[in-house]
Amino acid sequence: MIKITNLEKTYRTEDVETTVLHELNLQVQEGEFVAVMGPSGCGKSTLLNILGLLDDPDAGSFVFDGKETVGYSERRRAELRKHAIGFVFQSFNLIDELTVYENVELPLVYTGVPAAERKQRVEEVLDKMRIMHRRNHYPQQLSGGQQQRVAVARAVVNRPRLILADEPTGNLDSSNGNEVMDLLSELNEQGTTIIMVTHSEHDARYSHRIVRMLDGQTVTENILT
Ligand code: ADP
Ligand code: ADP
Repeated sequence: MIKITNLEKTYRTEDVETTVLHELNLQVQEGEFVAVMGPSGCGKSTLLNILGLLDDPDAGSFVFDGKETVGYSERRRAELRKHAIGFVFQSFNLIDELTVYENVELPLVYTGVPAAERKQRVEEVLDKMRIMHRRNHYPQQLSGGQQQRVAVARAVVNRPRLILADEPTGNLDSSNGNEVMDLLSELNEQGTTIIMVTHSEHDARYSHRIVRMLDGQTVTENILT
């Protein structure tokens, strides 16, 4: 599904150049659950942003589903993001002015799904994420664990084939964190590919494989048995 070859990324500000990714290679098969780990500042979020087509590398190749995405127009990238990729963030990133239901419905509005189908799909996913009983509440009325369940619901309502998660349990206590990890595992068992950045060895054990980054340069892989 994903083949990254010799990826390079350098951030340039007025006086500083920071090479974040250097000769990075990564392959992910459809259906895998991969954890990306490494020290703070080693380039994990940068890699995730490139995987999510939110950012462009300076050099190298990123093949998604057999197609080279480097050089794609912003329009094609946005299409692929909307339909194929779901994002889950550490800070939930829900819209405070919208209810749980409306937050989850929004991606379907953007992709032009008709109203009747929207209702059916939102209800199905709220039920699956065990947050249906809070459908008319606003994010600020929910616990962190509940907010993250809503965020996962929003990420999957368009049935993406790939979920990118950036420290999805970083703001949760262990019980809520485990619940979110269980939901991600269930989605993976149903066929969704997951790439998750985490600092938690515990969370990484939910994955099939740990990719370890060091200075954006070295990638070693541990296959979990
Ligand atoms: P990680 O997620 O592993 O903590 P990041 O990918 O966030 O690492 O950052 C890697 C390095 O790139 C850090 O040194 C960070 O300061 C730098 N960096 C990240 N984003 C930018 C940016 N937009 N401009 C300049 N430097 C950046
Ligand atoms: P609250 O009682 O404040 O609404 P939660 O939404 O966190 O709290 O729910 C409490 C627990 O009950 C959680 O572990 C949650 O997963 C579980 N739960 C809530 N709704 C359902 C449901 N429809 N089916 C199964 N478990 C549920």
